[in-house]
Amino acid sequence: MASVAAWLPFARAAAIGWVPIANKPLPAPPVTKEHRKREDEKFVINVSGRKFETWRNTVEKYPDTLLGSNEREFFYDEDFKEYFFDRDPDIFRHILNYYRTGKLHYPKHECLMSYDEELAFFGIIPDVIGDCCYEDYRDRKRENAERLMDD
Ligand SMILES: [Zn+2]
Repeated sequence: MASVAAWLPFARAAAIGWVPIANKPLPAPPVTKEHRKREDEKFVINVSGRKFETWRNTVEKYPDTLLGSNEREFFYDEDFKEYFFDRDPDIFRHILNYYRTGKLHYPKHECLMSYDEELAFFGIIPDVIGDCCYEDYRDRKRENAERLMDD
C-alpha cells in the first residue's frame, strides 16, 4: 500500500534524529494490508464537521439501524471518502458508543426532544437505553408530556 510506504521514511528519520541508532532499533516495517487480510474496515463518520472513526463491524452489529444498514450509503461523500451527517455531534457520541458497548446512555443535560430526534434519525429505539439512564429518561419524558399538556 502506498500509504504505508509513505510514512516509513519519516519514522526512520525521526528515530535517527532523536536517539543514537544503537540504542533504539528502527521501527519494524508495518505489515501491509495485503498480508494482514483484514475482513474489517475502518471508516470516517463526519457529523457536522466533527469526525468519528469506527469499524464497519462495529456499526453492523445493529443492522436494523441507519448506520448498520446500507441506508448509510446515501450519506457517503465520494470526494472526502467519509459519511457525512448534518446532525448534532454531541448526541452522536452517545449513539456511536451504543454500537461499541451495546448500551445507550441518556445525557441528562441534553433536551429530551432533540435527543429523541437524533435517535429517530439514526433509527434507534429508546428501549435500548441502559438501566443506568433509563429512569432519568423516563422521568424526563413524563415531565415533558405534562408540560406539553399544560400549554
Ligand atoms: Zn447510562
